[in-house]
Amino acid sequence: MRFIALAAALLILAGCYQRQAEQVQAQPPQQLYQWKLVTSWPKNFPGLGMAPERFAERVNQMSGGRLTIIVYGAGDLVPAFEVFDAVSQGNAEMGHSASYYWKGKIPAAQFFTSIPFGMNAQEVNSWLQYGGGMTLWTELYAPFGIKPLRGGNTGVQMGGWFNKEINSLEDLKGLKMRLPGLGGEVLSRLGGVPVTLPGRELFTALQTGAIDATEWIGPYNDLAVGLHKAASYYYYPGWQEPGTILEFLINQKAFDALPSDLQAIVINAAEGVNQDMLDEYTMRNIEALDALVLDHNIELRAFPDEVLEALRSTTQEVIAEQAATDPQMKRVYDSYLEFYKGVRRYHQVSEEAYDNSRGSLHRD
Ligand code: CA
Repeated sequence: MRFIALAAALLILAGCYQRQAEQVQAQPPQQLYQWKLVTSWPKNFPGLGMAPERFAERVNQMSGGRLTIIVYGAGDLVPAFEVFDAVSQGNAEMGHSASYYWKGKIPAAQFFTSIPFGMNAQEVNSWLQYGGGMTLWTELYAPFGIKPLRGGNTGVQMGGWFNKEINSLEDLKGLKMRLPGLGGEVLSRLGGVPVTLPGRELFTALQTGAIDATEWIGPYNDLAVGLHKAASYYYYPGWQEPGTILEFLINQKAFDALPSDLQAIVINAAEGVNQDMLDEYTMRNIEALDALVLDHNIELRAFPDEVLEALRSTTQEVIAEQAATDPQMKRVYDSYLEFYKGVRRYHQVSEEAYDNSRGSLHRD
């Protein structure tokens, strides 16, 4: 009897296994996805260009190869400034760029890169994630069929490279400078001539005298493109871009077509890369600034107070005027300003107070 009972139990068990095996076999093969990601940077460009590469690597690892992302440098599939259109039209599922390049299409987009004299990386990340910024950004891109995600931050940039000293406001008159976004408009009000050029054209433009000055990013990137060989005065601080946000652009239809676990992977990989860029820039900028000052003997200069004050008051004028003519910009500006005032109140007794308490640091 015992033997029969045991045999029966084994038979039932075997039947269960068989049914399970059949169920596994009956599942459809896992669908594989391959996306194109176009960027506004040269392929593998230090800092900016590494974000999409690391994003692709993270997505590939987390999805076990179910979603692969092919990254294209600027000009490989579409030119640097056509990334937005390519993603909007679905010619690429994703892009990596900076929102201020689209100010002609969406003036309010400028708030999602950096505002002159605005929030730094820590502050702007908080506004986006917890202060309502991300909701506004999503609304702004929705009519174009694009879902934006944060895609890195450079931290405070440098003021830029100049082929002459900037001692007073007079020195800005007629100054032809590569300076995109609101910073460019501010320069123009003060008599300068702003120019927009992609990163790969800066060195030649500065070296040939086609422009008198350029800002780019910070020591790490500026050293990499050799801007120190084209001009010798390196000014700080980067009033024009105090916490520049990079963006991932996702074609909404392509995103909606992904299963929910892959959607979560895309979002989490972007979040990881967003923090990673700031971490890497901080480290690399230390090394690069030392190399520029100690090995290449560049002239490191602070903008005079008079110049910074004029740039600051003109920035307020420009933003207020633009916000008054564009309802979307007004909405984003109101949200930005409310958060900015709050975070300054808090940071004046925390981050800023602490920074001041550390005193100045002199080079050995
Ligand atoms: Ca810049």
